[in-house]
Amino acid sequence: MIQRLFLFLVLAAMAASAAGDEARSIAITIDDAPLPDSSYFDGRTRTAKLIDTLAKARVEQVMFFCNSARMDAAGAERIEAYVQAGHLLANHSHSHADLHKVGVEPFLADIRTATQILEKFPNYRRWFRFPYLREGLTVDVRDRMRSELRKMDHRSAYVTVDTYDWHMDRMFQAAVAADKKIDFDRLRTAYVDLLTDSIEFYDGVARSELGRSPRHVLLMHENDLAALYLGDLVARLRGKGWKIIAPEEAFADPIAAVEPDTLRLGQGRIIAMATAKGYEGPTRRWEDEAELEREFARREVWK
Ligand SMILES: [Zn+2]
Repeated sequence: MIQRLFLFLVLAAMAASAAGDEARSIAITIDDAPLPDSSYFDGRTRTAKLIDTLAKARVEQVMFFCNSARMDAAGAERIEAYVQAGHLLANHSHSHADLHKVGVEPFLADIRTATQILEKFPNYRRWFRFPYLREGLTVDVRDRMRSELRKMDHRSAYVTVDTYDWHMDRMFQAAVAADKKIDFDRLRTAYVDLLTDSIEFYDGVARSELGRSPRHVLLMHENDLAALYLGDLVARLRGKGWKIIAPEEAFADPIAAVEPDTLRLGQGRIIAMATAKGYEGPTRRWEDEAELEREFARREVWK
């Protein structure tokens, strides 16, 4: 009898923990498309590889945040390929403008230029992601941008998980250029381990500071490492009970309606919301260039 009771308790605990895991979901968003050729993949090859990687991983839809200034004929063809594969497009400004440098009016003009170019594609959605996640150095600029985006009928495409996948790719490109001997298994493992760790970190802050795991929005970039290893990251996440969801499903989370009362907006919405509530804990995991370089060296990813 006691054994049965024990078994019942174990099963109940397992069911509760499975239900908790089931609630953890994440959408993939990919910034800076289309990025130029690298010395590893030219742009066209990278796009084909990324589409194939997503299809093989059974990720039905991601959202590409585009910089229309790079959409010459070849660039536009790549964006069209993402549309044909069922993915969504959104606005990341025409020239990847930095709000903190160019000021509000030129920044708004840059967004409008991108809208004009991108809205010709059927899969364009009116979401805007701030380049560098820079939303203003003052409350005035921040609030002005929030109101201007509403006037333009665009919504702010926050992230919940910041990553420095762009720096991992930059390190990779430097290793390729320096003709280093790259251990691709170690590279894949480092990429998957560190990104998974960051996702778990931001989810942990959400659960402790906001009381729940929201539908997450992962920040990635349209680079060679994503084309090579995004499928491996997805497999790892699923193995840990995460569900990959469509971007607009993630943006339907109640946190999408929040405008956090803070200027610490560069680490994503969870950190912003927690900070607005007085959170003073760590705000980043692997989002640090020197830390990444040390970790890649420790793992001997290349020699
Ligand atoms: Zn960007």
